[in-house]
Amino acid sequence: YLKELEELKDLDAVTLDGRKVELVGNIGEPNDVAGVLKNGGVGVGLYRTEFLYMNSEVMPSEEKQFAAYRSVLEAFPDGPVIIRTLDIGGDKKLPYLPMDEELNPFLGLRAIRLCFKEIGLFKIQLRAILRASVYGHAHIMFPMISSITEVRQAKTILLDCMKELDEEQLPYDKAVKVGVMIEIPSAAIAADIISKEVDFFSIGTNDLCQYTLAVDRMNQDVSYLYDPFNPAILRLIKQVTATSKDNFFTGMCGEMAGDPLAAILLLGLGLYEFSMSALSIPQIKKIIRSVRYEDAKKIAQAALDMETGEEIMDFVKDSMKKLN
Ligand code: PEP
Ligand code: MG
Repeated sequence: YLKELEELKDLDAVTLDGRKVELVGNIGEPNDVAGVLKNGGVGVGLYRTEFLYMNSEVMPSEEKQFAAYRSVLEAFPDGPVIIRTLDIGGDKKLPYLPMDEELNPFLGLRAIRLCFKEIGLFKIQLRAILRASVYGHAHIMFPMISSITEVRQAKTILLDCMKELDEEQLPYDKAVKVGVMIEIPSAAIAADIISKEVDFFSIGTNDLCQYTLAVDRMNQDVSYLYDPFNPAILRLIKQVTATSKDNFFTGMCGEMAGDPLAAILLLGLGLYEFSMSALSIPQIKKIIRSVRYEDAKKIAQAALDMETGEEIMDFVKDSMKKLN
C-alpha cells in the first residue's frame, strides 16, 4: 500500500474524466516543506505564519521573516505558496504583545482585526512577504475576513507597503496574488461580493464550522455538534465555490480538505484546490484519480438535498463503495 502511495507522488490529481485539481500542503514552518514535497504536494495552500511569531521571544524582524518566506517559496519553483498573514488572538497569544483579556476571544481582536490595530506589526510582515515574492509564486492571504470592507482596508495597507518598497528600490512581484480565508459565515454568504476584490478564496472549515454551528472547536462537551457534513456547512461551501470566474480559484485549507470521506463531495461541489497536512495528500490523490467528475457532481448535488450530516456521510460512504 505504501509503495502504491509512493508511485502516486508524481502523478497529477486528475479525475478519470479529466478534471484536474490541485493538492497542496498546510505548513507551520519552513521545515514542514520536506513532507509536502515527499508526499507529492505541488505547493503550499496554507502557511500558518503565527508559529514564526509564537516560537520567538521578540517580534520577528522583517529580515527573519523574509528569510523564512523565501526558503518556502524557493522550495516550490512551479507551485503556489499561500502565505497567511498573522492569525493571533482567539486562543493564541504572543509573549511580547500585551493584549487585553476578552470575554469572547474568538469573537474579539483576532487575526486581521488585530493586524489593523497593530499596523506596524502588520506592515513588517507584508513587507517581508512582498520582498520574498520574487523568489516564487507568492500568494498573500488574509485570515478572519468578514466583509469586503476589511479586504479593501488590508489591500490599502498592502499598497502602502508596495509604495515603500518602490521608494527603497526593493524588488517584489507586482502581480502577487491576494486572497482571503472564508471562515466566517458572513464571508461565505457574501462570497460573490468579496470575490470582486481578490484572486482566490480558501475555505477554512475549522473556523467556518465553529462560527456557523456556534460550537467551540476545542470544547469536547459540544464536539458532537461539530460537523463539517452538516447541510448548512455544505450549502455554504457550495455558495463559495459557485463564485467562480476567470483567473480566480477556490480552495480549502481546513481539516475537511484532507478528509477522505469529504473528497468526492468537495470535488463535486467544484473545489479546485485542496490544502491539507502532507500525510493526507497521497490518499486524497488516490480518491480523486479513481472517480469521474461527472459522478462527483451528481453525488454532491444529491447530498445538498439531504437533511442531516449523518445521512450525508452514510450516502457518501455508500456511493464510494458503489464506485469501487
Ligand atoms: C480554518 O479555520 O479552517 C483554518 C484552516 O485556520 P486555522 O485552523 O489556523 O484557524
Ligand atoms: Mg481559521
